[in-house]
Parts: sequence; C-alpha cells; structure tokens
Amino acid sequence: MTVTNTTDESDRPPLERLIGFDTLSRPFESWYAFVSRLIRANLLNDVDIRKQLPADWVRCAFAPQSIQTSDLAIPAPYVDQLPDAALKLRPMKWQPFPELSSAPPECLRGCPSCLEAGYHSYAMQGDAIARCPVHDEPLIHRCPHCDTQLLWLARSPGLSAFQCPAGCPLLEGTHSGLHVPHEDQITAALEEHLVWTQALREAIAFVSGPVHIAYPPYLAVAPMRMPPLPSIGLLPALLHVLKETGLAVPAFAPFHEQSNGRWTLKVEPWTWNGADPREESHLEAYRRAFRRSAYRTYVPLVDRVSFEQWLARSEDAHGKWHEGGVEEGSTCATFVLASYMVTNNELVALRRLLARDSNPGLACAHYTQVLINLLEHARLRRTALDQLEEPSLHVTVAEAFDVIVCTAAGHYRVSGETRGDDASRHTWLDFRELAEMAGGMIHVMRKYGPR
Ligand SMILES: [Zn+2]
Ligand SMILES: [Zn+2]
Repeated sequence: MTVTNTTDESDRPPLERLIGFDTLSRPFESWYAFVSRLIRANLLNDVDIRKQLPADWVRCAFAPQSIQTSDLAIPAPYVDQLPDAALKLRPMKWQPFPELSSAPPECLRGCPSCLEAGYHSYAMQGDAIARCPVHDEPLIHRCPHCDTQLLWLARSPGLSAFQCPAGCPLLEGTHSGLHVPHEDQITAALEEHLVWTQALREAIAFVSGPVHIAYPPYLAVAPMRMPPLPSIGLLPALLHVLKETGLAVPAFAPFHEQSNGRWTLKVEPWTWNGADPREESHLEAYRRAFRRSAYRTYVPLVDRVSFEQWLARSEDAHGKWHEGGVEEGSTCATFVLASYMVTNNELVALRRLLARDSNPGLACAHYTQVLINLLEHARLRRTALDQLEEPSLHVTVAEAFDVIVCTAAGHYRVSGETRGDDASRHTWLDFRELAEMAGGMIHVMRKYGPR
C-alpha cells in the first residue's frame, strides 16, 4: 500500500513555501516590503535568511538605491513574470526627475501607518509624494518612535526588516502585510501618480543639467554629504514657474508636494547657436581640462569671448577681485583661480554640465552661463570674507539651480536659488571650507584663507 501526499505543498520549491510568498504579485509594492515580509512572517533570523533567501534578493531589498537597470534580471525567475519589475525593484523608476528630490536615497521613506500594516512602495521614496494618499499623513524617513534616520541597512537584514536602526518595530503588533486593509485604495492612488510622472516626462525633458549647487553657508548648516541634496520644493517650484509661463504641465494630485519651499525660480526662452560646430571630442577635451591642484583650480573656458567680456565688465565694476588669470592649454584655455573660490561641489556641478550624450553646442552655451553665475557667487563670497563683521543679505544665497528644458513650445532655461535663513547667515561667520587636494586638506576660514 502506498501513501500519497494529499497536498502538493512538499512539491513546491522551498521559496514558494514561505508564508507571504504569494504577495509577490501585489502591484506597486516595494521589493523591500516583500522581502521584509518573508523575513518577519516566517520568523527568519540572519542564519535562516542566508539559507533560505537568495543573496541577490536580500541585496536588492536592503540596498535598493544601488540597483541599476542591468541588475533587474537578478531576482528571476519569479520577478520577470511581473508586469513591471522595475517599479518593484528600483526607487528611481518612480521619480520623474530624481536629481530634484530632497529625500535621502539611502533611507527608507514611507507612511508611518502603511508601514505599521506592513506596506511600502518605492513610489514614496522621492519627495514628489508629500502625504500618504490613504492616511493623509506626511511621509517620513525617520523612525516615528525614536527619530533615527531609517537607513536601509544600518544592521543585518534580519534586524532591518520593518525595523528602525535603533531596533524599534515599524510594524504594529504581529502585522507583516500578509493582508493590507487599504491595498486597493493605495494601488489606485499610486497608479494615478505613475500616470502623472509619465505625463511629466513627456511634457518636459532636461536637455542640459540640471545643476544644483549648494553655496556656503548652506554647506555649514547641512549634514555632511556629497553632493548635498536640494532643499524641499524644487520640483513643485519648477512646475509652477513653467505653468505661469503658459506651458502645459500635468496638474498636481492632492497628495503631491505642492509647496515651493524656499525656491524662487525664473524661466526664460533659451536660444543658442545651433550651428555651433563643436562635437563630443571637444566636450571630452574640456572635461579633461578641469584640474584642482594645491591652491589653484583650473576651469576650462569653452566660450572665451563671452567669458572675457564678462570678466572685463566685472573688473570694471569691482576691481580685480579674483586674482586669477587665463592660461593657454594644449587643448583649450583655462581660467586659473585660488581654489577656495570654487568649492568641490561647484566644480563637480560644472563638470557634469559637459556630460556625455549632451548636445555639444547647447552644453557649451549652458556651461558658459552657469560658470559666470558661479563666479559671481565666488565674488560675493570673497567680498563676504573680506567684510566679515558686516554679513550682508547679498551673501545669503544658499542654493542655486539651473537647467535647460525642452517642451512642446521650445527650449527654456529655468534657473533660480534659495536664500539662506537667519540661522545660516549667522553660521556664515564660522564658515570653513574643506577643500581636498593632493592628499592634504585646506581649510579656508574667515579672511585668512590662502589667497
Ligand atoms: Zn499610509
Ligand atoms: Zn526607532
């Protein structure tokens, strides 16, 4: 007599036997939530996780900010059967313009009530969604209990699944998202958000930039990070200003971030010499011409005539404030100035403007404009360093933004800034710049920095 197993449970592969595996197909939910659910619902400790879950699954769940398009095949075979695996695996896929987001990519960001029920979507990672569409609560990237930043993987996966780095549970009671009470509502709202982001990408394309530059004293009051993130409200400010210009942009949903924060932007039609003969090889030469040596920074001049006209005007008005000079190079001329005049952050932003795959003529014209703006800031900084006893409103520019967009109505340059608040103006007095060079660090402090 043979005994047959009445269930097919033992015939299923081990992964499929885990409690919660069938939630894999839940639309728009994050891979983090899915893998964390497997860990919590099956009471897996770190040893079990290593034995029972593929290492790639765990890496994708707890380091989602590093997942590239080329990594998407990793969690196969299960994931490639999903309608849009990228939305489940890549937070970036949800963001129309990731460079404008103020939300730290290294942290979990979500709705406290959704997390309590064991639900999370990567749609909530960027700062485009301000409040949960279902619970109307502000989204957070800090623990609701102890305010610790919710870093993806501050501890081992077993201790990070739906837990804050300090150990507070993010789930309520024994919930782990096996059943999410508001699943249909949140799915419908995220679908609406997805349609909105796609409409945005169709209405606006970035063709040069965006450049975001944090000027001191902002650096001194912001937590140390490279590069600094824009402050909140940049995307709404961009959309508002384009709309005021009469351009068609998709309307916000109630759960979207709609405040401009501290940003003030302006739009102007952008025209450039489309017949500019420059090619990618020229851009490459300019990119190579950037150099930071001890005390000196070399910035390529891609449009020498415009630059020299500006420099002459600036020196007429303010004297020779920069102590720099133009140097002829083998491939192009560079402007050489004291290194504290251009911070590392500014230098990186400038260099990025000459990115590969950009339109060389347009990139050079945009670069020239941004370089001149940046040197104007350097002049204000120099003035401020010289007059420290009288901090002035003119030196409280905290961040600058610049982009060339292509819309159905043509090309536009959108640029603007935030202004430092009183606290940052005070910080200015103690401003120090750390400039890393050739193995050493140079501190530029007060008016006694290297000149
Ligand atoms: Zn919620
Ligand atoms: Zn906590």
